[in-house]
Amino acid sequence: MRLAVTGATGRMGRAILTAADDRDAAVVLAVARESTTAVGHPVVPDDDVAARLREAEADVLVDFSAPAATARYAEACAESGVALVSGTTGLDDDARAALDDAAERVPVLHAANFARGAATLERLLADAVDALPTYDLELVETHHAGKRDAPSGTAGALLDAAGVAEDDRVHGREGEAPRADGEVGVHAVRAGAVAGEHEAILAGDGEELRLTHRAGDRQVFAEGALDAAAWLAGRDPGRHAFRAVIES
Ligand code: NAD
Repeated sequence: MRLAVTGATGRMGRAILTAADDRDAAVVLAVARESTTAVGHPVVPDDDVAARLREAEADVLVDFSAPAATARYAEACAESGVALVSGTTGLDDDARAALDDAAERVPVLHAANFARGAATLERLLADAVDALPTYDLELVETHHAGKRDAPSGTAGALLDAAGVAEDDRVHGREGEAPRADGEVGVHAVRAGAVAGEHEAILAGDGEELRLTHRAGDRQVFAEGALDAAAWLAGRDPGRHAFRAVIES
């Protein structure tokens, strides 16, 4: 697998480079906003990424960057015939559309969380909500102080899995704010260096069920993304799900 990495100077980009080195995977291209080095790899600026991907003969691009950049990288993958694994969160409609467009020409796998346990939490939560339809659901996520988007992409994916409509999601509470029927509170804590925690609370009269996922460090996301890259290379164009990687 010939690997390209975007957002290479970031927290996740460096975790990907480290994990790739540990696996002896060939990193043929590392890209960020400026030329520098990251984890001993030369990093080039992100102008004309399609040409750089072609020159490097990359098989898969692993992208953890920012929504606007992800949209451009998706176009570059489509143009150069390179598969795309992206973990960038906070995607807007343009970035989502860019991933869909790219998927018409190359295989694309986007996941808000590349930890296997977090992906499994989605299924467990869907089951729990199904089994306890009258219980109140609230979600608390905690991330490091440098995280840009809130709530986390994983929180969104969990709420989607639980069938919670956008209009029923209440982001924090202040003042007189009793819980209305059907609403789901979503609470984003930003502190220190926490890699990522998600806790779903389902509470009824006299009992509560808490489902928690805790990432020990970023390498768990990097390992999942590299597993996804190895699985995705050579597949048919289209959108692919991380669940398929876990179940393979
Ligand atoms: P970071 O800020 O440490 O790094 C971001 C990287 O992207 C840097 O290399 C930066 O130079 C580059 N970048 C940012 N804006 C850019 C732009 N406009 N054009 C080109 N390059 C740009 O962030 P991070 O903690 O590494 O997280 C990156 C993304 O990955 C975030 O969206 C985060 O939420 C997401 N993330 C996803 C998972 C997952 O499992 N899916 C896990 C952790 C983080």
